Amino acid sequence: VLSERLKTVAMYLPQNAYFADIGSDHAYLPCYICSVDPTATAIAGEINEGPFQSAKKHVQALNLENRVKVVKGDGLEVITNYDVRQIVIAGMGGGLIRSILDNGKDKLKNIERVIVQPNVDAHLVRKWFVQHHFELVAEQILKEDGHIYEILVADSVDETNVSLDEQKDILFGPYLLHEKNEAFIEKWQLEKINRIRIIGQMQKAKVVDYEKLEHFKQEVKLIEEVLR
Ligand code: SAM
Repeated sequence: VLSERLKTVAMYLPQNAYFADIGSDHAYLPCYICSVDPTATAIAGEINEGPFQSAKKHVQALNLENRVKVVKGDGLEVITNYDVRQIVIAGMGGGLIRSILDNGKDKLKNIERVIVQPNVDAHLVRKWFVQHHFELVAEQILKEDGHIYEILVADSVDETNVSLDEQKDILFGPYLLHEKNEAFIEKWQLEKINRIRIIGQMQKAKVVDYEKLEHFKQEVKLIEEVLR
């Protein structure tokens, strides 16, 4: 059975999807989508041999070789045709997701939707979307097995209508901020505690990066504002 996390990602793929799942590991998501939707097609991209082999085995076991193509490669380089319309990048840090998108910019021309699930630093991906003509259209936050996950969905646009104004939208996510559900509150309570701990460590250290210190202090203020 697919995790709630990946099921939530799956919700944002259209019928008849042709998508690339980058860092697919066991190819669970492409196999799930192609099993429930006989019109769907996918590329499962993997950079590492172990996960690449697991993906191939799983696809073969389900007899989905015709519709799930498992390709070994770095990031978006596994996208070699222009039929691919959606990209999923899940289960990595926001920094890595951003660099995968950035390094593969030439592969994004026909991409209609990008769905990401950054484990940390979602703000880096939100910022990247704003700067690259992708408009955030939905966000989800959920807790599963003790972990809190964020899922961001962005569609390609000529002009971004929704400008994520200011730091607050970028940091918290405009939709998540609006909803402020239980998982969101829990996440940001933890993030606040983390930052306070780091501030304490920095103040104890002899050499202090004051700019960084101020940045953390200001973020704590923002978090308190949002949780109030
Ligand atoms: N996407 C799956 C999920 O969400 O359950 C698997 C996540 S797993 C934690 C991350 C995977 O990304 C690993 O299998 C790793 O080998 C792969 N990966 C890391 N960097 C990559 C890159 N630049 N290109 C393709 N795959 C990458």
